[in-house]
Amino acid sequence: MIIRKLFLIFTVPASLLAGTIGAIAQDAPAARTTTTVATRVLPPFIIPGGDAYVGFSADLWNEIAKRNSITFTWKETANVKEILAAVDSGQAQVGIAAISVTSEREQQFDFSQPMFESGLQVMVRKTNEEGFSLSRLFGTFSTGAMPYLLGILALLILVPGHLVWWAERKHEASPFSTQYFPGVFQAMGWALSAAAGQQNDTPHSKLGRFTSIAAIFASLLFLTFWQAELTSSFTVQQLQGGIQGPEDLPGKNTGTTAGSTAAAWLKDHGAKVTEFQKIDQAFAALEQDTLDAVVFDAPVLLYYAANGGRGKVRVVGAIFKKENYGILFPRGSELRKSINASLLKMREDGTYDRLYDVWFGQRSQ
Ligand code: GLU
Repeated sequence: MIIRKLFLIFTVPASLLAGTIGAIAQDAPAARTTTTVATRVLPPFIIPGGDAYVGFSADLWNEIAKRNSITFTWKETANVKEILAAVDSGQAQVGIAAISVTSEREQQFDFSQPMFESGLQVMVRKTNEEGFSLSRLFGTFSTGAMPYLLGILALLILVPGHLVWWAERKHEASPFSTQYFPGVFQAMGWALSAAAGQQNDTPHSKLGRFTSIAAIFASLLFLTFWQAELTSSFTVQQLQGGIQGPEDLPGKNTGTTAGSTAAAWLKDHGAKVTEFQKIDQAFAALEQDTLDAVVFDAPVLLYYAANGGRGKVRVVGAIFKKENYGILFPRGSELRKSINASLLKMREDGTYDRLYDVWFGQRSQ
């Protein structure tokens, strides 16, 4: 008991002291000046919300700033290139949005621990060519072997129609008129129902019967070809149906944001790239048919496809280039260590997952 009391006497002041030192150390950056944080609007990471920002990165930064007593002001820039320039020139001491950590950027800047796992993905326009549509069905009549098959179908009606009418017209029980018109039309109707596999009256003459059997066989054969052709032309349309993933991008009109990792990838892989300031401009160009695809950070694309772009766009293929986002600092920044500690702590104490859930739903891992 006595030992325990003694222990308390010695430990309490020690821990109080440690707390004071901790507070001084934590307050050190804030005591210096106001920190300028460069960012750019990019939902769902940075979303304008009144006079501040909301979004995953904004909320994450507000929490980090609170934990480290950092007083700060936001500096909004147009794109990631300008965030890098602002931090490089000393106009800002921190950069945060959806900034991918790359080896090239790492040479010039310091990054925090990864704050988000991301990667590049492809987004295309949603067309009504997907699934069944009448225009698509009619389209199949003019492609491949279809025109020939339609010609054969016409012959399958004309030839047996004439033969049967000619052979049967004089027969007393003939269902056809003895006159060429309308007799031949009646016989063609008969041939059409034979081609469709339905047989009404058996012809009475030998030629009539022979023609009827031949017509049924020919139509069976024809239907088999027709079906095969229909299936294959639908498959070809599906395969040609545009961009299914990154391998289809070379030579295509693509759009992304200025100075982004996606722009660099697209240039390296032979796509035609338009670099926009805002990703929204790329989305609009895609919807107006000016672009074949938008290539960008998967979470941004998925967020758009589920919200503003719902029913208009579609994200295709898997993430094809993994990237991590980091908080950007100038080389040797004194803020980095304490911010890294907060980031790790927020992963440990559940704050990170809570924020993730708010913006992206349940975390899969
Ligand atoms: N993750 C992208 C990059 O850092 C984002 C680009 C952007 O903010 O437009 O390159």
